[in-house]
Amino acid sequence: MRWKGLQNLKKLIGISYLDLQINGSWDLITNAENNQYLKTLEKLEYLNSKIKEITGESNTYTIDTDINSKFSFKGVNSSFYNRLEGQINTGKMMEKFHQKITEKGIKCLFGIEVKKLESTNNNVHIETSIGEIKALKVAICTNGFAKQFLPDQDVKPARAQVIITKPIHNLTLKGTFHYQQGYYYFRNIDNRILLGGGRNLNFEGETTTDFGQTEQIQDSLKNLLNNVIMPNKKVEIDFTWSGIMGVGTTKKPIIQQIKPNISVGVRMGGMGVAIGSLVGQKVAEIL
Ligand SMILES: Cc1cc2nc3c(=O)[nH]c(=O)nc-3n(C[C@H](O)[C@H](O)[C@H](O)COP(=O)(O)OP(=O)(O)OC[C@H]3O[C@@H](n4cnc5c(N)ncnc54)[C@H](O)[C@@H]3O)c2cc1C
Repeated sequence: MRWKGLQNLKKLIGISYLDLQINGSWDLITNAENNQYLKTLEKLEYLNSKIKEITGESNTYTIDTDINSKFSFKGVNSSFYNRLEGQINTGKMMEKFHQKITEKGIKCLFGIEVKKLESTNNNVHIETSIGEIKALKVAICTNGFAKQFLPDQDVKPARAQVIITKPIHNLTLKGTFHYQQGYYYFRNIDNRILLGGGRNLNFEGETTTDFGQTEQIQDSLKNLLNNVIMPNKKVEIDFTWSGIMGVGTTKKPIIQQIKPNISVGVRMGGMGVAIGSLVGQKVAEIL
């Protein structure tokens, strides 16, 4: 779905508006992860053959042991390199998307909270923070916030905390990096580093729809930045923010009709940029 979703997104928005750059990605392996490394190594050929069945591309993953000399990391032993992973500018993506729907005459009402939905045979009553709206059909696409309308479904919020550095002079780091089995993620944005993760330090605390930061996770991000990613340079943090993902026991999204004239497309599993446009299409079809 991620592969197909990204092809769809490229068609829908256009490559130039996405600022798409295929700089590749590296799954970093530390000394402590040697067993995991060997297990993954055994399966690499199998993984590549399965990826080829979907994408038609051979040898997507290769081993890159030269990682430290390329990027001067500390404590990183080896890496798996994915030559196909890319980076996009999601701000520009949303800007273009909004422009496209406005051109089609679709109205966006911002800053209004939906409190309650009541479905009748002919339409849906939507109780909002500014009064009632009637609709013929409703698609619930609130992802990590969806429990409010779907109390019995397997979907919960997962907060992700992120930091962005100030511009770094002569930054050589270019691409996307996954650390500790993907619980941490970092990439360059021009000459800055964006770094997020650490949810595994406190799953319970990060199962929340409240935006915000915690000392424990902010410290772990700063520690990773200063001691592993940029051990030889003093870098300063410019911004911190958080976002809410929608997760469940499976990685598949929930796409279904739940009541007459009401359907849902939620639980993107932290992959909604890649798969969101496909999920949207499917929800529209079942509506
Ligand atoms: C730090 C971070 C990094 C990520 N990285 C990637 C990545 O590399 N690749 C990738 O594919 N995905 C990534 N994701 C996931 C991706 O951002 C999400 O899957 C995607 O944004 C989900 O889009 P959505 O429109 O379904 O939901 P959202 O963007 O969460 O939108 C839901 C909206 O519903 C609103 N809402 C909720 N309840 C109500 C209510 N009662 N009334 C009115 N409005 C309501 C919310 O305010 C919100 O604006 C990342 C997410 C985070 C947080």
